[in-house]
Amino acid sequence: MKDSSIIQKLKDGNAAFLSGEKPVGNISPDLRKALSENGQSPYAVIITCSDSRVVPEYIFSASPGDLFIIRTAGCVVDDFERGTVEYGVRHLGSKLVCVMGHTKCGAVGAAMHSHGEEPEALTILVGEVKSAIGDEQDSYTAIKLDTQNSIKRLKESTYLKEQAASGDIEIIGAMYDIDTGAVEFFE
Ligand SMILES: [Zn+2]
Repeated sequence: MKDSSIIQKLKDGNAAFLSGEKPVGNISPDLRKALSENGQSPYAVIITCSDSRVVPEYIFSASPGDLFIIRTAGCVVDDFERGTVEYGVRHLGSKLVCVMGHTKCGAVGAAMHSHGEEPEALTILVGEVKSAIGDEQDSYTAIKLDTQNSIKRLKESTYLKEQAASGDIEIIGAMYDIDTGAVEFFE
């Protein structure tokens, strides 16, 4: 599947999500059995926030086997996340990597209004977001900057950087609106 058609598949899935009141992914026992026997070949890697309101399978009307998903607060990326994406691309054949931030992101909000009173690991996480957004006061812009930083951090992987440069994969950003349910792709 070409990159453009994968993005279109995600857009179509989001449109179905917006028009329906219930998930439209296939959760049948037959699909589960087929995936167990034949293995997975997810068409996209999604890196998004752990926020409980952001559920990629629902948002893209996806089924088991469709999406290879990494979730961290604020979509931050470090070695384990890069390694997971490398696995999805190299071993599972995913051609599209999408870093999807979302409106009203608590991690980005914490970085915008940081008071430095968090536990140690959370301080590191918020610091990563803070380094991406600087003193930005507009939350939409800050979230977009945060996703762009995660894309940059993904490309610290020589493998992913080369795959993207050669056009074998595409790495894009996106924004999910937790109110409307719509996804904006930064193509
Ligand atoms: Zn968030």
